[in-house]
Amino acid sequence: MAFVLGLALPGLIFSVAEKWYLHKDKRPPIQTSPTESSNMQTLPQYSVEHKINVQNDASEIEAMDLNTYVVGVLLGELPADFDEETMKAQAVVARTYALKRQSTAQKHSGAVCMDSVCCQAYCGIDDYLAKGGRQETVDKVTSAVNETAYQILTYHNQLIEATYFSCSGGRTEDAVAVWGAEIPYLQAVDSPGEEQAAHYTDSVRFTKQEFAKLLGIDPKGQLATWFGSVTYTNGGGVDTIVIAGKTFPGTDLRKVLGLRSTAFTITPIGDSVHIVTKGFGHRVGMSQYGAEAMAVRGANYAQILSHYYPETVLKDYGQN
Ligand SMILES: [Zn+2]
Repeated sequence: MAFVLGLALPGLIFSVAEKWYLHKDKRPPIQTSPTESSNMQTLPQYSVEHKINVQNDASEIEAMDLNTYVVGVLLGELPADFDEETMKAQAVVARTYALKRQSTAQKHSGAVCMDSVCCQAYCGIDDYLAKGGRQETVDKVTSAVNETAYQILTYHNQLIEATYFSCSGGRTEDAVAVWGAEIPYLQAVDSPGEEQAAHYTDSVRFTKQEFAKLLGIDPKGQLATWFGSVTYTNGGGVDTIVIAGKTFPGTDLRKVLGLRSTAFTITPIGDSVHIVTKGFGHRVGMSQYGAEAMAVRGANYAQILSHYYPETVLKDYGQN
């Protein structure tokens, strides 16, 4: 679907972004190369009682039954009213994400933490109910997890990097545009129907002085003359933009300015810089709001997963 981003008045920039309640932006994983994937043809064997090490906010590690952990991830990650098919898709993704982290041991020595920005949000059932969550939601989530109990996403018989985020703003992003690594199943795809997400679009304003300081540029001259050419990624994010004669990657701008996504437009208005973002998060992999839009239109969880992670294969290790 077409999503417009571009626009280039003299001094304008562009891009897109979103979010809803959490700061949902899984940290870059990534080290898998297609070559490595192709060479490993045997999927690791997991017991149906597989445990995952979960690190709490006090850095204590608890070995938790994988599916118990996945129930907590869903309670922490998804709005209660999301469709059951969205919940099943998220269950497969959360399970795959945790097993992948465990297998690579790149962070927390193979454990997963409860920080939604770093690994995955987690809210245990008791905490969820104590905070006013409903038993009905717990039952719905538990059912989604049980119905997908041993299912994981694979590519060339390996666990995938199951990255996900809140909302894309209309189109997801290529992994290479965000993390510099080409990953065959993390390619930009259209993601319509996310408009209900709280941060489908957002805006932020900086004074000329603030903006210059954050970017480390000299705040001289007319603001409107600072903005030069912009290039875009396949997913509609800003790839690079020239500001005051310097070229900035969109990913750097997102970080430095604290933007919700790299899909943004910049407009100088008087002596201030107005930035509108679309989507929320890194926008690589599955969009939670996009998945929900697909489910509402009748897609099942397998269709949702194959849309956001093309060329991957859903497998059931409980039958190994
Ligand atoms: Zn973490």
